[in-house]
Parts: sequence; C-alpha cells; structure tokens
Amino acid sequence: SPRLSARGVVKRFGATTALAGVDVDVAAGETVAVMGPSGSGKSTLLHCLAGILAPDAGTVRLGGTDIGTLNERDRSLLRRRRLGFVFQFGQLLGELPAVENVALPLMLQGVARPEATRRAAEWLAALGLAGKEGRRPGELSGGEAQRVAVARALVTGPEVVFADEPTGALDQSTGADVMRALTGATAAAGASLVLVTHDEQVAAWCSRRIHVRDGHVTDAAPGQPAAGPA
Ligand code: ADP
Ligand code: ADP
Repeated sequence: SPRLSARGVVKRFGATTALAGVDVDVAAGETVAVMGPSGSGKSTLLHCLAGILAPDAGTVRLGGTDIGTLNERDRSLLRRRRLGFVFQFGQLLGELPAVENVALPLMLQGVARPEATRRAAEWLAALGLAGKEGRRPGELSGGEAQRVAVARALVTGPEVVFADEPTGALDQSTGADVMRALTGATAAAGASLVLVTHDEQVAAWCSRRIHVRDGHVTDAAPGQPAAGPA
C-alpha cells in the first residue's frame, strides 16, 4: 500500500473550492512534483497531505494513520515525528547557529543535546556545509540556508518530506544545487518527497509529476517515466 494516500479530498475556503475531490498516492521513496497554475490548489493540496489543514471531506492516510481523524494537537505531533518540511524561506531561526537549527527538531523529540548536535553536524556535512555549523542563517548564502533547511527536514528520519517552492527565492544554478541536495538527502533517508513547484527544471529532479487544475488532479496514478535532470 502507498506510504501516503489521499481519497476524495475536498477543501473549501468560504465560497472558493480549493480542492474538489482529489485522489493522490505516493509510494515509499517516490519523489513527486506537484505542478499547475497559480491559484489551482497546489499549496492547499500539500497542506492537506501534510496534516496542516484538515480536509472538509475525504481521507488522507499516512501509513496506517488516518490523518483526518486526528485533532490539531495530534496532527502537530505527527508532523514533528513523521514528516519533514522545506519552505521557500523563513523557516530557520535567525538567532540560532545552523547546527542548532538542525538539532532543534531532535531536541523537541527528547534527544539529548550532545547526540542531537552530533547528528545535526553529520547532516550538515552530508549537505556540503562542514565548517559552517556555527553560522547564523543571515551569515549564509540563500542556497546554503536552504541546504540547512533540508538538513533540518531530514534529521528526524521523516517518512515524507514536503517542500513548497523550496528554490523559489534562488537563481537557477543555486536552485539546482538545492534540488540535488534535497533529492539526494531524501533518497539517503528513504523518505518520499512531495514538492510544489511551477518550474519545469525543478520538477525534472522528481520521479513523477502530478498536475493540479481548478482543484482537480489530472494524473494521480504512478507510472509516468522519470524525466531526470538534464
Ligand atoms: P496554488 O498553491 O496553486 O497557487 P492555493 O492552494 O494557494 O493555490 O489556492 C487555491 C485557491 O484557494 C485559490 O483560489 C486561493 O485564493 C484559495 N485559498 C487558498 N488558501 C486560502 C485561505 N487561507 N483563505 C481563502 N482562500 C484561500
Ligand atoms: P507545529 O510544530 O505545530 O507543526 P510549526 O511552528 O512547525 O508548528 O508551524 C506550524 C505550521 O506552519 C507548519 O506545520 C507549517 O505548515 C507552517 N509553516 C511554518 N513555517 C512556515 C514557512 N516559513 N512558510 C510557510 N509555512 C510555514
């Protein structure tokens, strides 16, 4: 069975139907690019799949867990324990050094500081950031800061990583570096990846694409050939 599975997901904001009954399956280790025009429902889909928003109808299952039956507190716990997130910007704490930003999710799970720091430093090194552990986000380039965010998303060993335009604030070549880091780290961790982007070059790093249009997913089933980066 798929690692992540949405069935008939509906989400409305007032009179706007952002998702009109969406089915999506994501297999273990699969990397999925969610594409579509602005306002089509991509972010809303990501938020419903990630337990950030509760759907108005339909089900979202992560492994054996029906996310829709959880209350807000349990969804928050599930996000912390089983999911990872990378956003466009603004997710790192500016007053903390990189290594502490990465160690924080582990410490919130009760991992002692020395062990959390050790594991955080390993992830930073794996992402090409050895020697930059002590830098604060403002002392890093945009690409370096996003690789710190990737380390932070992966350090807890999530089942699925969600990324919303993770390269949206970067130039093309820096964006490619971040995508290489994100897909490499996701594969190394055995996680699945669900990534929202409007950028074909970013989507090319993923094994599959789905397209959202007016709140409908047009191609939810696996089986399209992997495009692969140029
Ligand atoms: P995309 O990510 O593809 O740009 P969104 O999922 O952000 O699209 O939005 C889909 C639709 O839902 C749009 O019409 C948007 O205006 C609306 N929408 C999204 N979030 C909210 C919200 N919090 N309140 C009201 N309308 C929203
Ligand atoms: P929790 O620990 O309850 O998940 P967080 O502080 O992680 O709370 O934030 C709540 C939610 O807000 C997150 O799950 C995430 O979806 C969203 N969020 C946090 N930071 C950002 C950001 N920089 N950009 C967009 N969404 C964000």
